[in-house]
Amino acid sequence: MIRSLHMKIVMIMVLIILSLMTVVGAFLINSVVAFYLNDFYSQISTVVSDQDLYRDLTQETAAERSGEVSGVEMLEQVLGAYAGELGVNGSNRNYYILDETGAYLAGTDDEYGPRLEYTENLLAVIRDRSVVGDESNVAADYMDVAIPIDRGDGQYIIYIRDNRDTVDELNDQLFILIMQALVFGLVISVLLSLVLSKTMVTPIQRLTDGAERVAGGDFSDKLEVTSRDEIGVLTNTFNDMAQQLKDTIQQVENERNKLDTLFLHMTDGVVAFSSEGLVIHANPAASDMLGTSIDNTTRYHDLFSDIAALDSVLSAPDYLEGERVQGERYLELLLAPFDRESQAGALVVIHDVTVQRRNEEMRREFVANVSHELRTPLTNIRSYAETLSENAGQMPPNTEKKFLGVILNESDRMTHIVQDLLTLSRFDSGHSELKLGRFSFTGAVNDLYNAVYMEAQKHGHAIELKLEPELPEIVADRERILQVMMNVVSNAIKYTPNGGHIVISAGKQADRVWMEVSDNGIGIPEADRARIFERFYRVDKARSRESGGTGLGLSIAKEIVDRHQGVLTTVAKEEPGLTVRMELKVEGPGHE
Ligand code: ADP
Repeated sequence: MIRSLHMKIVMIMVLIILSLMTVVGAFLINSVVAFYLNDFYSQISTVVSDQDLYRDLTQETAAERSGEVSGVEMLEQVLGAYAGELGVNGSNRNYYILDETGAYLAGTDDEYGPRLEYTENLLAVIRDRSVVGDESNVAADYMDVAIPIDRGDGQYIIYIRDNRDTVDELNDQLFILIMQALVFGLVISVLLSLVLSKTMVTPIQRLTDGAERVAGGDFSDKLEVTSRDEIGVLTNTFNDMAQQLKDTIQQVENERNKLDTLFLHMTDGVVAFSSEGLVIHANPAASDMLGTSIDNTTRYHDLFSDIAALDSVLSAPDYLEGERVQGERYLELLLAPFDRESQAGALVVIHDVTVQRRNEEMRREFVANVSHELRTPLTNIRSYAETLSENAGQMPPNTEKKFLGVILNESDRMTHIVQDLLTLSRFDSGHSELKLGRFSFTGAVNDLYNAVYMEAQKHGHAIELKLEPELPEIVADRERILQVMMNVVSNAIKYTPNGGHIVISAGKQADRVWMEVSDNGIGIPEADRARIFERFYRVDKARSRESGGTGLGLSIAKEIVDRHQGVLTTVAKEEPGLTVRMELKVEGPGHE
């Protein structure tokens, strides 16, 4: 309670009133005492310095001399006459007539007179009769004056003493008055300070409520500025500060959202660990790549202990690298320490390098295949040429001719391979432009049929053409599309034992035309089917080579169809043999 501003203000006011009244009271009471002292001594000295009185006190009268009255009686008479001026009233203030030793002779207070206290003033006169004892003493509870008087019959001391009861009474009344004023003042000050504190505390209270709201994240309302004083300025400043805080928080929020979105959708996996090895953050890509669900209870040890210990990552000057094969994926890992003000830890970035690895592998395989494919005919050419040169002129002409025929065949094959490779490399480098034009799809299929008919006949194949009527004209590179068709049909002829059955069919489906070539030949095992479009891939290498194949025909065909944004694929069928299907857009590549 005492901590509230209300109470503090009330307490301050009370303390101020208390201290003020104490000072004023003490000052007043002291002043009253001092005033009475002064008044007493000045009254006595005025009376004493009165020549008449002095004469009356010191001059011996005739009656005294005659012994009718004693000196004491005379003094009593004189003092009685001056009692009013001296303020002697027989109760508070009395006079005492003493002998030179201070013994009581007569006075207005016979009760106290014989027991009179030897005060400083009295003693001073007893000791030295030439002085008047009128030293005031604030600390004493009385006021007194001792005056030596010499009269004919002896030496006396007139001692006037006031017991200060009047002062004390006055002081008591003053004290009561001060106390009443104090109580009154306190009540007024408490009431005033309550009103005052309310006007001061209410805006502060509103400010506090506002600050609490802002601290709780609620920036909806501005505080109303009701005054132009310091609190008004403070409220304004607070509103500005809250606005700035709101803007800053908004900015930070936006940045965080951006980062979160980035983090969420990035293809690289990222996992952050605390220095204790617990996951702080992980994105979905990381869980996906590592093939495990990652949450805040997952530990570094469970995921990457095989790559590097957490301690070595945390103490690494830069970053550590690692690799992992996860199922069919190749993962490259970068492990780096991070050190933020409040938190240190380790960050692991997982990069899926499967495609690069596969490409590298394919490139290596490709180079090996090319070398192999070229070496075989070269070896043949060399060995036949060697035999011819070693036996020049000694060989039967028939054998010589046969050898030369082999050399020619092999060099043709090499030329073939090199040409195919060149075609592919032109596709790869993007140097091979399609010569698009509109032509009749039916016409193209018919031309194909006519071109392969003789070759099929040679192998005793029955070749059948099934064309849907009224196929549209299409936009494509006619020459290349025919190349694809020829390749597919040639394969059907090649890989079907003599006397087979080949069907070429074509039709239209939605905005596409299609052509299928089916044979009842040796077919391709299910597992190999998807791979026949790869470069140099051959199911049966010996057979392919025998029939002059390079293993590049279908990959070139696929490349051409892809560039037309069409589809070249095998069709799964129950019957033996293989069906290859080509689909092309009627309006050519670039049209939806
Ligand atoms: P190749 O020059 O060897 O014929 P391709 O690229 O044209 O090369 O064909 C790739 C491989 O696909 C062939 O070696 C062959 O094993 C297989 N293949 C292609 N067409 C057929 C088919 N109609 N029947 C069976 N196998 C086929």
